[in-house]
Amino acid sequence: EDLKRIELVKSKIGEFPDFPKPGINFRDIFTALIDGQTCRALKEVLINYVKKNHPSIDAVVGLDARGFLFSFTIASELGVGCIPIRKKGKLPGETHKVEYILEYGSDVFELQCGGIKKDQKILIVDDLLATGGSLKAAIELIQKAGGIIDGCLVVMELNALNGRKALDGFIIFDKIIMG
Ligand code: AMP
Repeated sequence: EDLKRIELVKSKIGEFPDFPKPGINFRDIFTALIDGQTCRALKEVLINYVKKNHPSIDAVVGLDARGFLFSFTIASELGVGCIPIRKKGKLPGETHKVEYILEYGSDVFELQCGGIKKDQKILIVDDLLATGGSLKAAIELIQKAGGIIDGCLVVMELNALNGRKALDGFIIFDKIIMG
C-alpha cells in the first residue's frame, strides 16, 4: 500500500528546470500537495515510516521552510514536540547558531535555546536532500543544544549530488523517494 502511495506522490512532484538559478532542476513538493489524495498519501507514508523506524523520538525538528510541513504533521500525529530550525534573524529570543556553506557563500541556521532538552531524541525532517549541507548544519545545531539525533528523514533525495556521503557515519539516514 505504501509503495502505491509513494508512486502517486512521486508522479505528482513538479520539476522546474533552471529555477531559482540556471543549472538547478527544482523539485516542487507543493505541486504534489495541490491534489488532496496525494496529500493524504504522503501523510500516511510519513507517519507509517516514522512509527516503524523512529518509535521513541521526543521531538521532530523541521528545516526552514518546507520541512515545517512535515515536522508538524509527524509531531502532531505522534504527540511529540515540533521545533523549527530557521534561517538567520527569523526566530525571537535567544538562539543557538551555526554557519554553513552553500554553493555560493554561506548562511546561518538558528535554533531557539530551551526548545530541546538534554538527551532528547530528535528526528530531523526536510523536503529534499541535495548536497547534505543543510542537514549537516542542523545536526550540529541540535547536538550543540544537547539533543541526540535519532535520524534524518527527507521526502526526496537527489542521488547525483551524493549528499548522503556528507552525512555518512554521522546519523541513521532515511528517505522516502529517490529522484
Ligand atoms: P542541501 O543543503 O544542498 O542538501 O539542500 C537541501 C535544501 O535546499 C533543502 O531545504 C531543499 O528544500 C533545498 N533544495 C536544494 N536543491 C533543491 C532542488 N533541486 N529542488 C528543491 N529544493 C532544493
